Amino acid sequence: MSVPDSIVFASSNPHKLEEVSRVFAGINVTVVGLDGFQEIPEPVEDGRTFTANALIKARYYAQATGRVVLADDSGLCVDALGGAPGVLSARYAGVIDQPRPRKQVDAANNAKLVDQLRAVPEAERTARFMCVMALCDAKTTWAVVRGSVEGRIVLEPRGDNGFGYDPHFEIAALGRTAAELPPDEKNAISHRGVACRHMIDALRQLQVQRPPV
Ligand code: IMP
Repeated sequence: MSVPDSIVFASSNPHKLEEVSRVFAGINVTVVGLDGFQEIPEPVEDGRTFTANALIKARYYAQATGRVVLADDSGLCVDALGGAPGVLSARYAGVIDQPRPRKQVDAANNAKLVDQLRAVPEAERTARFMCVMALCDAKTTWAVVRGSVEGRIVLEPRGDNGFGYDPHFEIAALGRTAAELPPDEKNAISHRGVACRHMIDALRQLQVQRPPV
């Protein structure tokens, strides 16, 4: 089993593709999105956990493309909301089913988040971003890894980088929101960056990493 020169990242989110590509560039693996493939209908993500949904996506797209596929399922878990929005993070405000620009969906989700937490004292607005990543080919699951980053929700958005809940998520270790960080700084600490590095470690342990070029 050896890692190919390029793997497919099964996401339509260009921000995630950019984040993951940057980390895998470090081991000379090119990460390509789904754009180069003929239209593949999206799978139903009906898992109740991030792991279940990551596996649904990785296995489905590996079979559909015949390639080695990396998929992530990620989201925001807020303690004061009992872990919500969790696996429903992308659809928290219920607007994802209608085709809308990503920015509009993000704005609606953030508006709902702020609304739900307005009455919650700042110290109790603790939260974490979670990410589970699965790497599969059409027949085998190669690895499943996870990453998380601790923080708290701020009611006033800060920063222009990133996507989704980033402007409202203040990273505990930095006191800055994820949207205030340039891409490499976000990757160094984020749930997805951590998961990517665990995936690279898992590949090394399987001794499947490509020899250095
Ligand atoms: P998925 O594509 O089903 O994994 O949905 C993940 C959702 O969680 C996204 O649409 C965002 O709302 C949120 N999310 C996941 N990762 C991040 C992040 O790095 N920053 C901000 N929001 C995120």
